[in-house]
Amino acid sequence: MGDGSVKVAIRVRPFNNREKQEGAVLCIEMQGKMTKVYSPELTKEFFFDYSYWSHDGFIEDPNSGMMVPDGPSSIYSDQRRVFNDLGVGVLNNAFEGYHCCLFAYGQTGSGKSYSMVGYGKNKGIIPIACEEIFKRIEEVESKTLHCEVTASMLEIYNEQIQDLLKPPHERVKGGLKIREDPKAGVYVQDLSKTPCTNYDEISEVLDKGNSNRTVAATQMNATSSRAHTVLTICFTQIVYDETGRPFNRKVSNINLVDLAGSERASKTGASGDTLKEGSNINKSLSTLGRVITALAKKSSGSKEVVPYRESSLTRILQNALGGNSKTTMIAAISPATYNIEETISTLRYADQVKSIKNQAIVNETPQE
Ligand code: ADP
Ligand code: MG
Repeated sequence: MGDGSVKVAIRVRPFNNREKQEGAVLCIEMQGKMTKVYSPELTKEFFFDYSYWSHDGFIEDPNSGMMVPDGPSSIYSDQRRVFNDLGVGVLNNAFEGYHCCLFAYGQTGSGKSYSMVGYGKNKGIIPIACEEIFKRIEEVESKTLHCEVTASMLEIYNEQIQDLLKPPHERVKGGLKIREDPKAGVYVQDLSKTPCTNYDEISEVLDKGNSNRTVAATQMNATSSRAHTVLTICFTQIVYDETGRPFNRKVSNINLVDLAGSERASKTGASGDTLKEGSNINKSLSTLGRVITALAKKSSGSKEVVPYRESSLTRILQNALGGNSKTTMIAAISPATYNIEETISTLRYADQVKSIKNQAIVNETPQE
């Protein structure tokens, strides 16, 4: 990531029960950084920073209840492994004072939330990162260094932005507004920020945010949200001199994004209201697609207008994409042949993302 490129990881999940019952056919192979998609008709190879095999080769550890590799030579990538590669990088960058973004992309049911949030004891990147950030703060804080953490959480649903840390009856009709400030950059007006001083506090914030999410069942995956969820951890380090006067301040915004399913509306079987909803969700996702294409072209030298302003999602992620941020994408894919079209489209998307170049700077201000 030293060259400013967006780091890209692919992760393939196990067959789910329905796929096992229906005798689903595997269409993915991984080797080192390579992800291969194959069927009788085609074979395609893609190369990424990481290709995570989480399809088989795991057991449930009787002590921790977590899914772990079933032997020392197993190639199964568990939650810890993914965190150690991707989450640790995010934390390192945050402590250096860079803005960071980690976002999960993929069709509904492919494993985005499993990687980002996790289920039960199989904690994902977000809760582990929250644990680690406070561990590190305890280690580094001293008379001359003080750290502050605040968390905010929002949802983009039908292009409207809602604050997930406020109860549903306080929702603003039409959604919160995005504003731009020469100094503060792009921000969401009136979005609440909760100060957190330890893991339990931030964990409570995450639970509250999750319970306020809009969940509309689709035929493909009843529990999956059709909205984009953005958790922003604002991490500030204040350095004091020996006399107790602050003389430097570093600020890092860590954006952790769980995108809505990338599948086309027809596959989810949506119709009527849900279809309209789908088309708006696709407005954010399709704009994200066009932003990524423009940025990929730009990084190979062509002059492109990047359509950031055309959706809420891309406005909020403007810095994370082609701007002042260290950014990582995790693309979740299904192992089954019946999803091969969506899988190839996800891999193509990810392939473009990896050519995007960002220019992150340390965000520090000397104190008067
Ligand atoms: P998405 O958020 O992309 O819609 P989920 O993360 O909810 O999908 O995953 C769908 C199902 O697949 C869940 O039941 C989840 O537990 C399972 N799953 C996804 N990824 C993995 C993985 N890497 N290992 C084990 N189970 C997984
Ligand atoms: Mg999900």
